[in-house]
Amino acid sequence: MLHGRLAPSPTGVLHLGNARSFLLAWWDLRARGGQVHLRMEDLDGPRVKAGADQAAMEDLQWLGLDWDTGPVYQKPRIDRYREVLEKLAQQGLAYPCICSRKDVLAAASAPHAGEEGPVYPGTCRGRFPTGADATRQSGTAPSWRFAVPEGSEVGFEDRFRGACRIQVDRDLGDFVIWKRDGEPAYQLAVVVDDADQGMTEILRGDDLLSSAARQILLYQHLQWPVPRFAHVPLVIGTDGRRLAKRHGDTTLRRFRELGRSPIEVLQWLAFSCGHPEWNRLQCPADGIEGFDLAKVPDRPWVWQGELLDPWP
Ligand code: GLU
Repeated sequence: MLHGRLAPSPTGVLHLGNARSFLLAWWDLRARGGQVHLRMEDLDGPRVKAGADQAAMEDLQWLGLDWDTGPVYQKPRIDRYREVLEKLAQQGLAYPCICSRKDVLAAASAPHAGEEGPVYPGTCRGRFPTGADATRQSGTAPSWRFAVPEGSEVGFEDRFRGACRIQVDRDLGDFVIWKRDGEPAYQLAVVVDDADQGMTEILRGDDLLSSAARQILLYQHLQWPVPRFAHVPLVIGTDGRRLAKRHGDTTLRRFRELGRSPIEVLQWLAFSCGHPEWNRLQCPADGIEGFDLAKVPDRPWVWQGELLDPWP
């Protein structure tokens, strides 16, 4: 049995981009008889908004997406993430780091503009025997980084992108797995959750493609089975940048308020996904049979203001 998840971060309501990735993940699972699990990624510190979990669920339901289990939250699982951090630290694969973002920027000789900033120059690697030593030195709790072993090249077959190969030590560097605020970082939490919750399929936006390499390294060192990945292009604005506040309000809520029906939104999303029967769909389930991941355009989809007026 295949298992996959919808994993919204309750930091705001769903916009067209999130909704499209969730619809694709849902179709991709349902078309293969898989189970859909809902996980609320509520470890995003101050960005998490009260009530956004309920809002995300309402939006998914409005669009017609369902799930077999969940929602599972991350906050109650802190002890479990800590246990995994300790295991990595004991194996010499995690170390405390007291560098601020500014320190990292200043020390990095060749900054790469990755989604996690420049490659960490390794300043704190081997510097402190324990987390307590790091705290003593800096006066505050340290973050923890994964010590990427030299020569760590990760190769994987992405179901959408094909063969991917990333040299993690050189191109991404030691990445944060535990934040100073005492919570696990996304890279660690997502791996522990996907492994513990038995996920075999991960379909998400391709802004997380390089994160897959980090995550696969974690799976390998924890000796956990690696799920299959599929990274799909994002929705962008006419300026070529990924859909965000600067493009105005593209939330499902707004389209709903403008009087668009879930069918109109669904059909627009299905059209953007290359679904051959997009204009006949009345609910996501109608699209299961005709769904083909290979038909999804391999370029980002440009939203040009559709759905603001009745569509098509
Ligand atoms: N919570 C993440 C997001 O909304 C998803 C992360 C993932 O799918 O691994 O972007």
